Amino acid sequence: MTTTAFDVQAVRADFPILGQVVHGKTLVYLDSAATSQKPRPVLDALRSYYDLDNANVHRGIHELSRRATDAYEGAREKVARWINAPSPKEIVWTRGTTEAINLVAHSWGLDNLNEGDEILISVLEHHSNIVPWQLVAARTGAKLRYIELDDQGRWILDDLSTLLNDRTKLVAVSHVSNALGTINPVKDVVARAREVGAVVVVDGAQGAVHTRVDVQDLGADFYALSGHKMCGPTGIGVLWGRAELLDAMAPYQGGGEMIEFVHRDHSTWAGLPHKFEAGTPNIAGAVGLGAAVDYLAGIGMDAVVAHERELVGYALDRLREIEGMRIYGPESQAERSAVVSFTLAASHPHDISTILDAEGVAVRAGHHCAQLVMKHFGVAATARASFYLYNTREDVDRLVDALGVVKRIFG
Ligand code: PLP
Repeated sequence: MTTTAFDVQAVRADFPILGQVVHGKTLVYLDSAATSQKPRPVLDALRSYYDLDNANVHRGIHELSRRATDAYEGAREKVARWINAPSPKEIVWTRGTTEAINLVAHSWGLDNLNEGDEILISVLEHHSNIVPWQLVAARTGAKLRYIELDDQGRWILDDLSTLLNDRTKLVAVSHVSNALGTINPVKDVVARAREVGAVVVVDGAQGAVHTRVDVQDLGADFYALSGHKMCGPTGIGVLWGRAELLDAMAPYQGGGEMIEFVHRDHSTWAGLPHKFEAGTPNIAGAVGLGAAVDYLAGIGMDAVVAHERELVGYALDRLREIEGMRIYGPESQAERSAVVSFTLAASHPHDISTILDAEGVAVRAGHHCAQLVMKHFGVAATARASFYLYNTREDVDRLVDALGVVKRIFG
């Protein structure tokens, strides 16, 4: 699939997993916010890497090591171009968004935050953009403050000028919410945060999947993403950071690859980005993520976003017709990405998910690692249908039909 004319059936044909039958029904996969499926070119790249090129990177002076290093560093260049980073040196491989945020919290936070400083996050955050800051706050004496949510789960920014002040040293916010699908006005918040001199971390775990990311245009200092959410393998992600900040930060972990010289009593560090990549990295993962970026670039991010928008609009229209349906998140479709979080009358989301599963429809039920969001809406859990480039209107119809079964069982 290398054409820019979006053809969802051609896209689906690239994803072998989607053709399978589950519980006697053709699979409808609506859990891409948790992890996306992988297209053939990504699977082929992983296979080909291990079949032909597998070796450790950087260290070996032999053909396979050279090839592995070229593939690994080539993938870094692809990701840098994909998010418009000024240099591949600013692309640090991590296990995913969680590790990328923890890296900043640890390497920047522990050295730069002090008693009385403030960290601003939002109630909408995934736990991986809350807990690392709680840990750093506990160790440094910094105070955690929150952007609150309105009744549609959108950031309340009226009091942003109070929340952002000369004590605010760090702002960490998500680009797109995994729990509600909200596309946050992150660029505005970044601009305001930088006015007070705060360092800004953007959790792009969902943003990198559902928007065209341009880190230079966004203006933040760090952007974190996970490969597995955007057609790549698990266990590989990215921390993009401004070179001057990364340069000034202490290493996150010590070990091989990240040093320049090791002496008895101290060591000196390799340059960027290797200073942050201790140990043998996830080489195949990086190669796979490079292939995912190629795949998405071949289709075109604008086409992906347009397809998702159309699909979510259709899903919202159809779901809103169901009696007892409560949909969480912004009413306006313009503020929404490819996620629909819902509850259905008194049915427990786990029961909904179990019945949908029996109908071949995979959705997620739970707190979606966003317990503060659930608390905000006064629920313990929601069911969440999340869409990606390979989903169709027929998938939405199958979801709605399966919810009919839920209604028949629970009344
Ligand atoms: N942030 C958001 C908004 C997410 O959706 C997720 C994953 O669901 C994460 C962070 C954590 O990503 P990972 O588990 O890949 O590190």
